[in-house]
Amino acid sequence: MAKEELECSFCGRNKPETNLLIAGLDAHICDRCIEQAHGIVIEESKQMDNADLSAELVLRKPQQIKAFLDEYVIGQENTKRVMSVAVYNHYKRLLQKPTEDDIEIQKSNIIMVGQTGTGKTLMAKTIARMLNVPLAIVDATVLTEAGYVGEDVESILTRLLQAADYSLEKAERGIVFIDEIDKIARKSDNPSITRDVSGEGVQQALLKLLEGTVVNVPPKGGRKHPDQKFIEVNTENILFIAGGAFDGIDRHISKRLNMAAIGYKASYEGEIIDKNNLLQYIIPKDLKDFGLIPEIIGRLPVLTHMDPLDANTLRAILTEPKNAIVKQYVKLFEMDNIALEFSDDALAYIVEKAIEYKLGARGLRSLCEEILTDAMFVLPGSEETKLKVTKDYAEDKLTRTRVKKLKVVS
Ligand code: ADP
Repeated sequence: MAKEELECSFCGRNKPETNLLIAGLDAHICDRCIEQAHGIVIEESKQMDNADLSAELVLRKPQQIKAFLDEYVIGQENTKRVMSVAVYNHYKRLLQKPTEDDIEIQKSNIIMVGQTGTGKTLMAKTIARMLNVPLAIVDATVLTEAGYVGEDVESILTRLLQAADYSLEKAERGIVFIDEIDKIARKSDNPSITRDVSGEGVQQALLKLLEGTVVNVPPKGGRKHPDQKFIEVNTENILFIAGGAFDGIDRHISKRLNMAAIGYKASYEGEIIDKNNLLQYIIPKDLKDFGLIPEIIGRLPVLTHMDPLDANTLRAILTEPKNAIVKQYVKLFEMDNIALEFSDDALAYIVEKAIEYKLGARGLRSLCEEILTDAMFVLPGSEETKLKVTKDYAEDKLTRTRVKKLKVVS
């Protein structure tokens, strides 16, 4: 074949009609066909991703989801079971093919009630990690009705888009964790109050997102970029998980259970009631009495509670999860060739202090940090190859940091 007769083996264009013609063993391809082929490859791999996700979701049954949660979250058995089922059912909807029977599976949005630091956020994070979907964590307290100072509820979806690297497809089946949902409860039980900016209006605005509609979302968020083009996000397959401490809700629960305010043991229809963990008896009506509007409660049909963390649980949190705090410090020290070890009484001491400071599991980390900061400053580069943290060591370091802080204040 003469040189000027060269043509693309895919579209048949002659060389002069192309910008570029690349030669293979027995064929040629032009720039346009390369671009087209590239597009097909991307499209195909997207579909493969979808298929992968579907396959993954089908494979993980509720018990396997729970087993995954077990690796990261200590205790909270009830919530783990309820969540596993809810997440499984929710994602089954994604795989549902349109059928003739008109049975539409509804969303299993979840609401978790439990004291701060008991693992609500951790639970949402772990689920998102397992499913490999984007997660947005938002604080309900910053949300306001449109037109008021604060963030519009649409900003939640902006965050989700950002977490999904602006892939609309991924965002549309991501997870949104709305923390402190209790802070937007209606302040008064009297529904005749006409305006309640802080609470009910925001709940109303949230409703729209929860029920599954197409929402216009400013991709850069906020009102600072008025010129941006909106992205239409369909919230139908987004899993919403709400969490809150609901301080004081135990009063509603005990009232409903008709319990006397005194004494540690009470009974309800013959069952002994554990007064130290009243949250386990929570029902949707209690949320309503607390000030959530019925429509919101209806859109968060899976209600679950977090147990308070006792000393044993806190101790387990320090050492057992896959990325337990102690394991993290051991690794940090290992990088400097130092073998770090905690004695049993040191761990017990840390737990005792965490309970004393009423910080829940959140306190464990800051306590460890205070105890180990000196060592982390001094030991790297020294001859030392070992550090054993005993109770005395921990106590000494903690007292010193506390005293130092006092000196700074005075
Ligand atoms: P919440 O959202 O309920 O306020 P978080 O999930 O933010 O609490 O928990 C704070 C930290 O405490 C987490 O980073 C986690 O390390 C730890 N934590 C809390 N509860 C648990 C738990 N049940 N199992 C393991 N770690 C926990």
